[in-house]
Amino acid sequence: MSGKIRFAPSPTGYLHEGHLLSALYVWAAAKKWNLKIHLRIEDHDQSRARPAYIAGIREDLAWLGFKYDSESIQSARGQVYEAALQKLKEKSLVYPCYCSRKQLLAENPQSETGEIVYQGKCFYKTREERRETREIINSAPHNLRFIVPDKFINWHDLRLGDFHENPKLQCGDFPIRDRDNQWTYQFAVCVDDIDEQITHIIRGEDIRNSTARQIALMEALGRTERPIYLHHPLIVDANNKKLSKRELAHSLRQDKEAGITPEMLFGRVCHKAHLTESDAPIALVDAISIIMETL
Ligand code: GLU
Ligand code: ZN
Repeated sequence: MSGKIRFAPSPTGYLHEGHLLSALYVWAAAKKWNLKIHLRIEDHDQSRARPAYIAGIREDLAWLGFKYDSESIQSARGQVYEAALQKLKEKSLVYPCYCSRKQLLAENPQSETGEIVYQGKCFYKTREERRETREIINSAPHNLRFIVPDKFINWHDLRLGDFHENPKLQCGDFPIRDRDNQWTYQFAVCVDDIDEQITHIIRGEDIRNSTARQIALMEALGRTERPIYLHHPLIVDANNKKLSKRELAHSLRQDKEAGITPEMLFGRVCHKAHLTESDAPIALVDAISIIMETL
């Protein structure tokens, strides 16, 4: 088998242990299935991305010994996103939403996972209603929402098994561009996964909920063959709880500056992910082999 996998960090901070575990999974999958590795810097949110973090991703990967075959950065791909938006517009699958955050919270139910399930208020507005609120005449702040099909999507995760999910019930029509004209994660990731011909998507379990809606969006954009999915377990703390913001803020480069070696980090991260019995230092190839066994 051949294909392409991506490692897709967002440069909103320096790489931390969670990223390192993800990278180990991606490189292990690439080795197991003989895939090319693509580094995608997901700086779609220009208000949070920083040049130092972008440089940091490349430097930290080099220091750790992760090599890749190709690279892209979302901020250089505006025209590709614009073209994809046009495609959705031609299919009448996009509409502007003028709801404020406060309105969204007050007027829509929330899913089991605490997500707002947008009920389509701005979709159902008549032209008169829009005129009344002057939305058509003066371009009040708005995001653009993708109309998700109201249907259950069956998809398979190599580790977690089968899922049967309806994005209309998980989140409703979702934003592809926000009020500040930034492309959203959901949109940019789908356009890129198509355009960059990604065949395997290996990422943390925290993003699993996004998969059905991403499949719906990729299909609307014309992708017929689905990627293979695997959502890996996350690092937990000593009490089996998700790592706190503070713990995740602790970066790999702080460890590096404190004299910690990559091998010490691989040992520590594999142990924290319950992949090894001790946290003794291990080589990158060995960390990758250990994870390959679990795939
Ligand atoms: N940029 C996302 C993150 O840093 C990963 C997105 C993905 O793998 O789909 O969590
Ligand atoms: Zn709205």
